[in-house]
Order: sequence, then C-alpha cells, then structure tokens
Amino acid sequence: MKVIEHLQQAKRTLFSFELLPPLKGHNIEGIYKAIAPLLEFNPSFVNITYHQEEVIYKKHKSGLLEKKTVRKRPGTVAISAAIKYKYPMLDVVPHLICGGFSKEDTEYALIDFHFLGINNILALRGDPPKTIHVFVPEKDGHAYASDLVRQTINMNNGHYLDEEMENTTATDFCVGVAGYPEKHIESPNLTSDLKYLKMKVDAGAEYIVTQMFFDNRKYFDFVKSCRDAGIMVPIIPGLKPITTLRDISVLPKVFYIDIPEDLVREIQKCNTNEAAFQVGIEWSIQQSKELIEFGVPVLHYFTIGISENIRQIAKAVF
Ligand SMILES: Cc1cc2nc3c(=O)[nH]c(=O)nc-3n(C[C@H](O)[C@H](O)[C@H](O)COP(=O)(O)OP(=O)(O)OC[C@H]3O[C@@H](n4cnc5c(N)ncnc54)[C@H](O)[C@@H]3O)c2cc1C
Repeated sequence: MKVIEHLQQAKRTLFSFELLPPLKGHNIEGIYKAIAPLLEFNPSFVNITYHQEEVIYKKHKSGLLEKKTVRKRPGTVAISAAIKYKYPMLDVVPHLICGGFSKEDTEYALIDFHFLGINNILALRGDPPKTIHVFVPEKDGHAYASDLVRQTINMNNGHYLDEEMENTTATDFCVGVAGYPEKHIESPNLTSDLKYLKMKVDAGAEYIVTQMFFDNRKYFDFVKSCRDAGIMVPIIPGLKPITTLRDISVLPKVFYIDIPEDLVREIQKCNTNEAAFQVGIEWSIQQSKELIEFGVPVLHYFTIGISENIRQIAKAVF
C-alpha cells in the first residue's frame, strides 16, 4: 500500500520507523533483528535510507595519501526488496537521493523499484559528502529534491527521459519529501525554506516527513507555518530518541537542531550511556503522547538500527 493510502485509511495515529542499510561487509540479519521486536506494534511502513559515495583519504606507509571513493552503506534497493517479500504486511519506503545520480541513473533506479512492486519513495537531495561540505549535483543530475519529485511524477504520467519512447508503462509512485521544523541548514530563513518545500509539494509530493526535533512546539509552529504558506499535505513528525551521553553535542552538529534545556539537564545528570538511553526513551514517550493528542497522522522513529528503545516507546504509546 502507498503511504498516502495508509494515512487516508487510518483511524488512529500510525507507527513507522527508519532503518539504515548495514555497513559494507555486514549481512542483512541486523535489519531483520531490528524489525522483529517492532512487528507487534503493527508498523505501517519502514523507510530505508540511501547513502551516497564518500571520498576518503587513505594514508600509506610512505606518507602518500590515496584518494578513494567508497560507499559505506550500500544495498538500499536490495534491502527494500528483501523486506517487502519477507514481511508482506509491512510497506517499504526506500529513500532516493539526487547526489551521485544522473537523471538516467534516477530513471533506472525508479524502473527497478517499479519492477519490484515498490510504489513508495522518499525523494531527497542528499547530504553533501562529509569531506566536501557543499552539495555538488552529478553531471546531468538533479540539484534539488523538487527536480527529483518532478522526474518521478513524469514517470507516473508515462513520460520517460527519452521523449520519443511510445506505449510506455506509467509507474505509480507515492512520493514523500523532507521538511525541517528548525529550517534546513543552507536556507537563509524559514520563509525561503517553506517556499522550496511548497515547490516539492506542488511538483507532486503527497506528504512530508520532518527532521528530528526534541521540542514539540517546533513541530506545532512548523505545521502552522506550512499551512499559512499553503502547504496542505500531511506532515509526519520524525522522532529520534537520545541514545548516548554524547548525543546532546553530536546531534546538533550533524542535524542542525536544538536540544531543549530541560533535556540537556536530564542527560547531564546521567553518569552512564545506559542512563542517558533511558532518559531518551522517557523524553520520546512524552513527545509521542503529546503529538498523538495533537492528532499527528504517524509517529515516525529514526532507529539507527537500535530497536530496544523504539520497542519501549511503542509499548508505552501504541
Ligand atoms: C526524514 C529525512 C530523511 C532523510 N534521509 C536521507 C537519506 O536517506 N540519505 C541522505 O543522504 N540524506 C537524507 N536526509 C538528509 C537530506 O538529504 C539533507 O538534509 C539534504 O541536505 C537536503 O535534502 P532535501 O531533500 O531536504 O533538499 P531540498 O529540498 O532540495 O533542499 C535543499 C536546500 O536547498 C534549498 N532549495 C530547494 N530548492 C531550491 C531551489 N530551487 N533554489 C534554491 N534553493 C533551493 C532548500 O531551502 C534547502 O535549503 C534525510 C532528511 C530527512 C529530514
């Protein structure tokens, strides 16, 4: 089923989560182990992230640096297919990014998903590689997620890149996009960010999944700003429970989000990562309950492959 169909048919707040492909060299069992404990809460869909190639520099004994291109977490397409066929009750939403893809590559990826019977994607620009910091589109690739949405919707209308192709099969993708309650880091202000978010929705995105936030007020304000800007599609809150003591300094650096003072204080009282993990669960339960009261369509959890905290949260909430 498409995500939008889940949302339309829902009689209560739904449960979903995101998984990362394993690091190269590891098998898919970790993915199944992460999913298994969450099945009892009837997740509607599971997202699988996509990771672009990274440039790394390997130092040789001679002191020379070798520039290498590596993909640390390959396998999004295969994992999505494996999940779809192992858990027929669970819909899968692979992420598709602009980074590293020419338009032709994008078309091939969409054809693969279509043949696999996967009809959901989350369309993203992708983060710049860590060593480069600036997003550079692939030659003949998309610079913004809105362009990726447009290409996908074109295929839904039977228009492939080669305009001379006749009698093509139209694909049938439900497309979601990302939104940022605390604005995207590269955006000069929220108004500008919302203008481009609306562009993604106008291009055909049917729902938005937000970046993580730890203060629900940010989400409530974001929803209001979106509605005021004419963005009327469902806005799914993305939640990430704190898991370690370091998270309060790492998460703001990586995701450009604020951690509320109360939460920082609670984490600073902890002496161990185990204690911080527990505080993260409690905080997320409170956030989830308030969001359900607000009437959110889905609670979407970023798991980073750990499911024990998500299991405890889901048990308390669903
Ligand atoms: C729920 C979620 C899941 C994610 N999953 C992944 C993943 O699997 N893999 C991954 O690599 N990254 C992922 N990301 C991170 C995401 O790729 C980055 O945040 C990236 O920097 C922006 O992606 P976007 O799709 O929001 O970009 P866009 O919507 O293209 O926006 C990027 C920036 O450009 C601006 N902008 C947009 N259009 C225009 C325009 N036409 N002209 C000028 N400026 C414009 C926007 O305001 C914004 O500042 C995820 C993020 C979220 C919130």
